[in-house]
Amino acid sequence: MSENFLVQKMRPHAVSIFAEMSRLAVETNSINLGQGFPDTDGPQEIKDEAARCIASGRGNQYPPPNGFPELRLAIAAHQKRFYHIDIDPDTGVVATTGASEAIASSLLALVEKGHEVVFFEPAFDVYRAIIDLTGAIPVGVPLQKPDFRPDIQALAEAITPATRVLLLNSPHNPSGIVFNREELSAIASIVIEHELIVISDEAYEHLWFDSHIHIPISTLPGMFERTITIGSGGKSFSFTGWKVGWASGPQSLISAVKAVRQHLSYVSGGPFQLAIACGLGLPDQYFNEIRHGLSAKRDQLSAGLEHIGMRVIPTEGTYFVTTDISPIGFTDGFEFARMLAKKCQVIAIPHQVFTESGQDFKEYVRWAFCKKPEVLAEATTRIRTIF
Ligand SMILES: *Cc1c(COP(=O)(O)O)cnc(C)c1O
Repeated sequence: MSENFLVQKMRPHAVSIFAEMSRLAVETNSINLGQGFPDTDGPQEIKDEAARCIASGRGNQYPPPNGFPELRLAIAAHQKRFYHIDIDPDTGVVATTGASEAIASSLLALVEKGHEVVFFEPAFDVYRAIIDLTGAIPVGVPLQKPDFRPDIQALAEAITPATRVLLLNSPHNPSGIVFNREELSAIASIVIEHELIVISDEAYEHLWFDSHIHIPISTLPGMFERTITIGSGGKSFSFTGWKVGWASGPQSLISAVKAVRQHLSYVSGGPFQLAIACGLGLPDQYFNEIRHGLSAKRDQLSAGLEHIGMRVIPTEGTYFVTTDISPIGFTDGFEFARMLAKKCQVIAIPHQVFTESGQDFKEYVRWAFCKKPEVLAEATTRIRTIF
């Protein structure tokens, strides 16, 4: 049968560049700086806790529907410790299958046909797919070239009476910027004026560098009541395969998220939830070290790419550095990425995949630096051979 069974609204999302690039990576035996996962695991004590739980039979059967109390308490304590946010661990927190399911269930809970969801582009590719699934209309607002700062005026102009949700992501994938207080305040004013709800994807909350401290938008005046804040144990503790995430916020919003989420994965990751609970309570030293370790990798890869002649957008957070490839004579990120895989055996991701039209950010490419120093060094050595 050659019939296409896939529903219309998911057809634009059927083929993912990540699949193509991963295939190319294997075929060409490439260094994969495409997908954002660390090539070193997180803390041993978190692994040990997961192993202990499995061995002693904790979490091997269905965990409680909204997550183990240990994890929900740890999330509430973490929000208090880092951001002075008070949340109720019973009514204000829900554990999810990664930040991804928290995003999906929040959107499915809040929007449907007739609604619009606004977000900055380029954006994490999952956003559009899930918004399309809900039946709402995705409205991308381009970040400004050349430094990827948010255009507040353009955001204000994108709001219509149908706008219901602003989907925010800081630290931002793929650009690597961290929204500063001034930008967040301006965004908050628009949100409050139009009575929107914010879904704040803070998967990279601990991965910010230099003085670019992460500020949860829910900590701004008037914002707690209208914000769902999303976290990722995978990103914060370098266990992306475990898929432990969460949403937190006021009871009114979290109860809506819970209502949908229970019908998606129901529950997941029993022993891993308990291990991530342990991670959330690690001393400050851990959180400082992950930032410092990653910022050194950022410096290494940025310097290497700059030396080759690309223009490097300064990375303030996340796993990623973005470069402009036009100084080295390329105008199309797709073409560049395919060429790079074939000639240099290095994989990078064109920003085109993070936008609707694929046109707006054609000259930008994203590189993951959450890899061992020798891997980053080898990647730049390989690229240098052709420039
Ligand atoms: C990786 C990522 C996620 C997904 O996190 P998981 O915990 O792996 O589901 C969500 N948002 C952004 C921006 C990401 O980069």
